[in-house]
Amino acid sequence: MFSERLKRLTPYVPGEQPQDREYLKLNTNENPYPPCPGIADLLRTFDTERLRLYSDPVCGRLRERIARKHSLLKEQVFVSNGSDEALSFCFYAFFDSLYGRLLFPEYTYSFYPVYCDFYGITYERIPLDREFRVDLDGFLKKGDGSCGAIFANPNAPTGTYLALDRIVWFLENYHREKIVVIDEAYIDFGGESAAALLGQFQNLVIVRTFSKGMSLAGLRLGYTLTDKELIKALFTVKDSFNSYPADTLSQLIGEIAIEDDLYYAKIREKIIATREYFSSELERLGWFVLPSRANFVFVSKEGIPGKDIYLKLKEKGILVRHFDVEGIKDFVRITIGTRDQMARLLSVATCLFP
Ligand code: PMP
Repeated sequence: MFSERLKRLTPYVPGEQPQDREYLKLNTNENPYPPCPGIADLLRTFDTERLRLYSDPVCGRLRERIARKHSLLKEQVFVSNGSDEALSFCFYAFFDSLYGRLLFPEYTYSFYPVYCDFYGITYERIPLDREFRVDLDGFLKKGDGSCGAIFANPNAPTGTYLALDRIVWFLENYHREKIVVIDEAYIDFGGESAAALLGQFQNLVIVRTFSKGMSLAGLRLGYTLTDKELIKALFTVKDSFNSYPADTLSQLIGEIAIEDDLYYAKIREKIIATREYFSSELERLGWFVLPSRANFVFVSKEGIPGKDIYLKLKEKGILVRHFDVEGIKDFVRITIGTRDQMARLLSVATCLFP
């Protein structure tokens, strides 16, 4: 027998991780460069006896290091199994239809409505502005009837970015007792984090990931930065669900990754440079490219449906992401890989879509 709850669920569909053949995978915003070298050293010398015991349920050492990196207190940091888990805990802990609808952008990370349905939170999608940016004016107009707000900066799948002064303006004008979650999964690729605003706004929650900027999507590690009391609430949710969502190896690997700023700054710079090169080449070939501050670009070519672009590239062994959603059907989202990978895509695209 299945529960009524289960029958009502519509799960999130992640990008393909095909096992059948080798693809040039530019569909799930993975980083093309390896994680920092210290991780391979750790794995070579790791004493497997340590796996006999449960992992640290509060991720103490890792949280300390994350706190140091952001000049915060350890009590302001929460570690999770990927940032998806942190997001889902935030939805559970901070948003309640009793107080209004949750606000998020019309085109954004498609997990947000899934969590809303999962937890029974009503929501309202706020249209993007004419430049496909998150429209914080639109959020404010709906502020009174809302129970909180969430948006990604840079936004996904558009890649568009809001400068910090816009976010400050929004936080100053939105209700101080309602929670605002900023999903900074892609902040490492040229954006400025809102973490610096945490001292000023107790209702601000920042969710980040090791998956993109730190090349650790397969590890499943994310973290949240916010006020101490809100972190306690996230622990209450975690401890009502799973005592040990972050395993011992993940915590150790995270501790190494979070310290190696030099290595990660280098690969991020390469990705940013490749994004700019790829964007201008595509534009030269007549494509429409939204300005991106993420490790992907959202692009379209007049007269060619996004689905055709996706299918034709797939036939040639290149995977990109298409969203079959009214309003963005013409677009595909392309992850920024290495310069050689993007050059390959450019030459295939030139032949397929002259
Ligand atoms: N937020 C956004 C906007 C994303 O695109 C993703 C990746 N799909 C995530 C959060 C979750 O990333 P992860 O769970 O790997 O940390």
